[in-house]
Amino acid sequence: MLDMKKVSVTYGSYNAVEDVNINVGQGELVVLLGSNGAGKSTTFNAISGLKKPSTGTIRFEDVSLDGLSPDRIVKAGVVQCAEDRKLFPQMSVHENLIMGAYVHRRKRKQVKQSIEHVYELFSILHEKKDNAAGSLSGGQQQMLAIGRALMAKPKLMLLDEPSIGLAPLIVEQMFDVIQKINKEGTTVLLAEQNAYAALRIADRGYVFENGSVVVQGSAEELLENDTVRKAYIGA
Ligand code: ATP
Repeated sequence: MLDMKKVSVTYGSYNAVEDVNINVGQGELVVLLGSNGAGKSTTFNAISGLKKPSTGTIRFEDVSLDGLSPDRIVKAGVVQCAEDRKLFPQMSVHENLIMGAYVHRRKRKQVKQSIEHVYELFSILHEKKDNAAGSLSGGQQQMLAIGRALMAKPKLMLLDEPSIGLAPLIVEQMFDVIQKINKEGTTVLLAEQNAYAALRIADRGYVFENGSVVVQGSAEELLENDTVRKAYIGA
């Protein structure tokens, strides 16, 4: 479904991502692991069109994403949920969700169904639908960011560090919901530092170090891998 070949991304003369090859098959849940600054967000920005790669190609289904604008990439079915959530804090929960459906804004029935689906997944968002997004807790804001991304009906959802800054119990709930979204048919590419929790729900993973993929394999293989265990699981 997603095929990145030999992708490099530079900031000035600095190589943030170098020669990265990533594949994601339809229906998979794939995780990118790596510490701060390893290149995960830059890879996501290259896929979603926010940062143009200096070399390499990115294909989604049968379409080349090279040179497409971010909104064309959303229309193609790839939606990114950024690490900093990018909510509209003064607007209500409900209004934030509606904003997520802007690519489908003429299909009112579909928008209504999507919003009902998001409220089913996250009942707290339904309870707080008239509250300002900025008044929600960190975990609730993260749920809203994911809910808003779902409103665009993605085929592939890019989730950048959804567990960052959240309490352990909320992290667990977050991973349960991500797994559910995947089981309902949305393909997921997840960037996480929380390696153990992410590998428990993932099919496969790639480990980034200094902008390159250094290890890849099935979730079982990575959970057993010495480098991964020492560096990211603390075992
Ligand atoms: P994090 O979890 O901190 O976001 P990451 O694995 O997602 O980590 P990136 O954000 O992709 O890593 O960063 C990769 C490298 O590129 C880092 O060295 C970072 O400092 C650098 N970088 C990221 N964004 C920019 C930018 N806009 N300008 C210059 N350098 C950048």
